[in-house]
Amino acid sequence: MATIEHWIGGEFTAGTSQRRGPVFNPATGEQQHEVVLGAPEDVDAAVAAAKAAFGSWSQASLSKRTKILFAFRELVNAHVKELAEIISDEHGKVLSDAAGEVQRGLEVIEFACGIPQLLKGSYSDQASTGVDVFSFREPLGVCAGITPFNFPAMVPMWMHPVAIACGNTFVLKPSERDPGASNYVAGLWRRAGLPDGVFNVVHGDKTAVDALLQHPDVAAVSFVGSTPIARYIHQQATAGGKRVQALGGAKNHAVVLPDADLDFAAAQLSAAAFGSAGERCMAISAAVAVGKAGDALMSVLSRKAADVVVGAGRDPRSEMGPVITSAAKERIESLIGTGEQQGARVLVDGRGIKVPGHENGFFVGPTVIDRVGTGMDVYTEEIFGPVLSVVRADDVDTAIEVINGNPYGNGTAIFTNDGEAARRFQRGVRVGMIGINVPIPVPMAYYSFGGWKDSLFGEHHIHGPEGIAFYTRGKVVTSRWPHVSTPIEASLHFPTS
Ligand code: NAD
Repeated sequence: MATIEHWIGGEFTAGTSQRRGPVFNPATGEQQHEVVLGAPEDVDAAVAAAKAAFGSWSQASLSKRTKILFAFRELVNAHVKELAEIISDEHGKVLSDAAGEVQRGLEVIEFACGIPQLLKGSYSDQASTGVDVFSFREPLGVCAGITPFNFPAMVPMWMHPVAIACGNTFVLKPSERDPGASNYVAGLWRRAGLPDGVFNVVHGDKTAVDALLQHPDVAAVSFVGSTPIARYIHQQATAGGKRVQALGGAKNHAVVLPDADLDFAAAQLSAAAFGSAGERCMAISAAVAVGKAGDALMSVLSRKAADVVVGAGRDPRSEMGPVITSAAKERIESLIGTGEQQGARVLVDGRGIKVPGHENGFFVGPTVIDRVGTGMDVYTEEIFGPVLSVVRADDVDTAIEVINGNPYGNGTAIFTNDGEAARRFQRGVRVGMIGINVPIPVPMAYYSFGGWKDSLFGEHHIHGPEGIAFYTRGKVVTSRWPHVSTPIEASLHFPTS
């Protein structure tokens, strides 16, 4: 069994802590690796390495940084398969989906390759007589990233390529459940020519996270994970004077209007609810069936859900893999039971599913629960599994009210052919990312990703222009060069014209 170690200052190290955590293969239910769980001293070592590297990296020319980013892009692109295999083995998602996750991460690296353009400041010639004003942005210092299990490559790539391109150094604390991809990525950064200490990985749990939050040399924290932890990270890190963006959990609704193409909508909903076993922060976990769409939609959707091929992520026939842990499986199955007890109708039941050859895997089958009330646990809880709860509504305005009554505001979608209803929807929902006939509206890398309400704490969304703003701070220079032939008088009052 391999031990997954920290990557600090360009070297693997077991660090000082004796604590270890198990890394399972969710398809077999067996432990495949152990991961070191860092102590505060290990965080100190990683932050010290990042701090030492900041001096020269923050001064590296834009052309040097760009060359390394392009090289990193090429290396990640050449190793999508290897990364996808690590992800699939530790997370459970099917290989094609794991490769898709790396692809979305690559798009952020490609965005960061444009850093000379992205960091251009502004210049106002002759703002006053003989006076010019210009602005530019500088890196912050050591930035930390704390990431969730569900996208072990993509979510860290929302952060480190942008932070590093801006001239910062970075300490990543990935999820302890699937930590392998981060070490593989560290090796690619090194091969791309990134100086040692610019990108570091500390593995661990709450102990390592708290040490990062309290460290005086960490300037900024990017977090992606569940809402209670996001709220905690935001409170702790801002109290320590750090800049923070903390993205939390979600309950993403898809509204289906009666005029929509119901076959199309059902296929899209099924893919968005059950892809990656529902373990996506942009998964559709609640459908709002409007008026006459309801019964017809339920019959197509139930068929589609029952047709999903569940199996090991490495099996090319599988469309959906297991969930992350046996505890997650138990929790999801128990919530389905609670939904039933509270009066909802389980149309497709994924409990107790067995995959031949993988009897101990953490599998839950696609589940569709109809007639869900907004007070029921299956609606109020973020289930984070392959469970689609269906709420009925009379019209689009009621559907918008349902969405706005939910504490989360990450993503949402509408299926319709009615442009006026879609426009009312896009303007009326209090949600950060909206799809119109697009079930998972993840913004492209050159836009910024982020939700509203309990789905994001802090002011900045992640990657895209807001990512650049997050990882830099601005300076504005007002300058003049007096000449002996044009004397300038000093005045004690503000000029009035
Ligand atoms: P999580 O909140 O349990 O863990 C996220 C990170 O926080 C991990 O690195 C973990 O080690 C650390 N952590 C966990 N408990 C902690 C504690 N008590 N104190 C300090 N640090 C702690 O989330 P998860 O289960 O890994 O991921 C799933 C969650 O992430 C879901 O809620 C999902 O919606 C959310 N998510 C959100 C987005 C988004 O963009 N908004 C994207 C992906 C995932």
